[in-house]
Amino acid sequence: MNKVDLLIVNIGQLVYFKEPIRKVNNDNTVILENAGIAINDGKILDIGKSEYIKEKFMSENIIDAENLLVTPGLVDMHTHALFAGSREDELYKKLIGISYSQILKEGGGIYKTVKYTKGASFDYLKNRLEKTLKIALINGTTSIEVKSGYGLDLENEIKMLNVINSLKDQYDLIPTLLAHVIPKEFNGDYVDYFVNKIIPETSKLKLAKYVDVFCDENAFSLEQTRKIFKQALKYGFRLRLHADQIKYIGCSKLINEFPIDSIDHLENCPEENLEEIAKTNTVIGLLPASSISMLDNKKPKIDLVKGKALFALGTDYSANSAMISMQTAIDLAIYYLNFTPIEALAFSTINSAYSLRLENRGTIKIGYNADLILWDLENINQLGYYWGYNRAKKIIYNGKVINAQSI
Ligand SMILES: [Zn+2]
Repeated sequence: MNKVDLLIVNIGQLVYFKEPIRKVNNDNTVILENAGIAINDGKILDIGKSEYIKEKFMSENIIDAENLLVTPGLVDMHTHALFAGSREDELYKKLIGISYSQILKEGGGIYKTVKYTKGASFDYLKNRLEKTLKIALINGTTSIEVKSGYGLDLENEIKMLNVINSLKDQYDLIPTLLAHVIPKEFNGDYVDYFVNKIIPETSKLKLAKYVDVFCDENAFSLEQTRKIFKQALKYGFRLRLHADQIKYIGCSKLINEFPIDSIDHLENCPEENLEEIAKTNTVIGLLPASSISMLDNKKPKIDLVKGKALFALGTDYSANSAMISMQTAIDLAIYYLNFTPIEALAFSTINSAYSLRLENRGTIKIGYNADLILWDLENINQLGYYWGYNRAKKIIYNGKVINAQSI
């Protein structure tokens, strides 16, 4: 018998996906009953029936899954998880009908968070991000994208990216340089500054995998986004895009001009543009908590492209909508966007990993990172039935076991 670091046996239902999912079917989805998994060196070593795993391997660490559900760990493909200060006052403004655009125009919103973040020290920001990442992990998020964008100038964007990179050993972080908004007071052309100073310096220091642009009214125009994307490609970055969130100014059309891995938000995207995106390998990032937090009753018009497009889910945790649980994102995908529990799981695992072009993560496969969730649920459909709380029992992150519930 082979001795390994960890065994999970007596899994009632093991659910994972073989490839990025447009429509869930028997060829691309695995639902294995009475399953077991062998884990060694933080990687998946073998998968099979529980009896087979018990016969073939031995370990000092055995988790008896007691016939419960096991899935891959969740991947949060869109967050602004690093910032200082808080903006609870704006919730009241939104509740009495003041729009997000109005709040931004009056110097609130992102500008307010930029002020706090610029004034915060590296250590303060690091502690704050670490606290957020811990909550995410305990709720099942084993990989997470984190954007800069609350620094705006070179010094503070680099500070943010350095903070994100400083936690890479403890958490599976994917850093993104974000062109968020144009500073209120800036001498000269900010797009030129972003393109000629911030992009080259971020590239030189190897601080980010992605460049993302907030292309929208009161943020970056189509032409400005083009300039940033061209330079980002030249410096070897991959591309993500915030598009059509506040108002439609044509941003989602950029998928015809650039190789964009993920196009997110799309609350105001015309249906014909969504149909164009659905024909490509660009992932549509759905951020239901963010849509709801705007309190303007707008959600992406995705009914026509369900079953056709590659969707992924993210929390969009930010200073505007501070919701960090991917389980809540799944709940909202089910109850607000009307996806099935198994679709919501696919969009939070294999599809969100694909949207970040992650290797060895997002599904359960020999050689892949052992990032798993043992749920306090009997089957995948209970993931939609029981909702609104942390249903993870144990999280396995890089082969290490974390108890999600202390009672
Ligand atoms: Zn965002």
